[in-house]
Amino acid sequence: MEISNLINQLRSRFHQGVTRPLAWRKQQLQQLRKLLTDNEQAISAALHADLGKCHSEAWLSETGFLLSDIDHTLSHLNKWSKPRRVSTPLVAQPGNSYMQPEPKGVVLIIGAWNYPLQLTLAPLVAAIAAGNCAVLKPSELAAHTDKLIAELLPAYLDRDCFAVVQGGVEPTTALLAEQFDHIFYTGGEAVGKIVMRAAADYLTPVTLELGGKSPCVVDSDTNLRVTADRIVWSKWMNAGQTCVAPDYVLVEKVFVPKLLDAIKDSLKRFYGDDPRQSQDYGRIINLRHFERLQGYLEGQNVVHGGQTDPESRYFSPTIVLEPDWYSPVMQQEIFGPILPIVSIEHIADAAAFINQRPKPLAMYIYSNQSQLSKQLIAQTSAGSVCVNDGMMFMANPGLPFGGVGNSGMGAYHGQFGFDTFSHLKAVMKRRFIFDIPLRYPPFSDSKLSIL
Ligand code: NAD
Repeated sequence: MEISNLINQLRSRFHQGVTRPLAWRKQQLQQLRKLLTDNEQAISAALHADLGKCHSEAWLSETGFLLSDIDHTLSHLNKWSKPRRVSTPLVAQPGNSYMQPEPKGVVLIIGAWNYPLQLTLAPLVAAIAAGNCAVLKPSELAAHTDKLIAELLPAYLDRDCFAVVQGGVEPTTALLAEQFDHIFYTGGEAVGKIVMRAAADYLTPVTLELGGKSPCVVDSDTNLRVTADRIVWSKWMNAGQTCVAPDYVLVEKVFVPKLLDAIKDSLKRFYGDDPRQSQDYGRIINLRHFERLQGYLEGQNVVHGGQTDPESRYFSPTIVLEPDWYSPVMQQEIFGPILPIVSIEHIADAAAFINQRPKPLAMYIYSNQSQLSKQLIAQTSAGSVCVNDGMMFMANPGLPFGGVGNSGMGAYHGQFGFDTFSHLKAVMKRRFIFDIPLRYPPFSDSKLSIL
């Protein structure tokens, strides 16, 4: 079907009010739940084919994540969709005021390839909950997951309200030429700008979930083993292809050898002597990204790893020591299994280092000194901060997930997702009694003095 016909069809369905009843939204969310549980094996196989994701990681970061997101949404939907009362000032008495969440309409969700299921369906959970129709455009780079989403979604959800468009630049460009009521984009900054420019033509609101270089500050006063385990877990999950992975480590010079040894020790415990043989270590999405990552190693002091195999897109967990500030590995988001360790004289200098770069999506601080983390949180800006852990903050639906500055705009997860796909309509209800005419013309100084 032509893209403009598809959007018209969804729009007319939306205007029929099909998506508005809470019972319908809940039923669609249950159907999405069923899609995930019925097809768990097929999903896991697709994610393995795309990214070498092992079953446990696929469950933790994609299918299981989505199931708890759906359950959380189902148990809070009644509350989120209720009118939200606010107080009414004396001048508007007698009266009452509230915000009524209403669905935005037909929304476009453009997903990324690194968590190709989660990043496409988690915004959909929020869009359904808020009562919208939606077009999904999964990333074509995760080809197996893309195909599976396109096959499964129409089999489980209302086909007149939800559609999947597959493909790369061409269909996405065609979609962006249409009018939507919200565009939710996950991916890199360059395409984020294309999306925002296209949205400007219709003044369509956008959510941009982008990336950036997320710093990881490690204080010498920390629990070394747990710190290393948590850095390794969050950096090398999905072979480093995670938007909130620690991009580089900032640590005091004297502490570098100890931290390096601890990270190597964790890597060995997690992935064995040869991570290529580990079932739990992923692969790079495609050759273009593989070669981009290889390029980052040119001229660098590689102190661990560095083994690569283009055929299987294996790229070992790699550590680079003291990279040059102006080298590509420190200028661009790595988005792969390379961890630069950068030393600073004093840990308190970390804020100045971070503030010289665009605002990151996430920042990590490992320290026993609560004063240090408090100071760093106050002195820097980031989409999210996690103290003494990696991306665990994502597991809390009570926290918004989104960037700031170059790392994005808008947020989702939990109620923040529901609100993203809703318009909070301001409503004031007045009564006809006590109509004090002071605000009506003709004006006079005596009327003004009473007001
Ligand atoms: P990608 O290549 O999968 O692109 C994202 C989407 O944009 C895809 O659906 C793709 O088809 C579409 N697209 C690509 N080129 C386009 C064009 N010229 N016009 C219109 N649409 C186009 O993703 P990517 O950009 O390689 O993703 C990596 C980036 O995404 C990293 O910076 C990463 O940090 C970020 N990311 C952010 C989050 C988050 O939640 N904030 C999550 C994952 C990835």
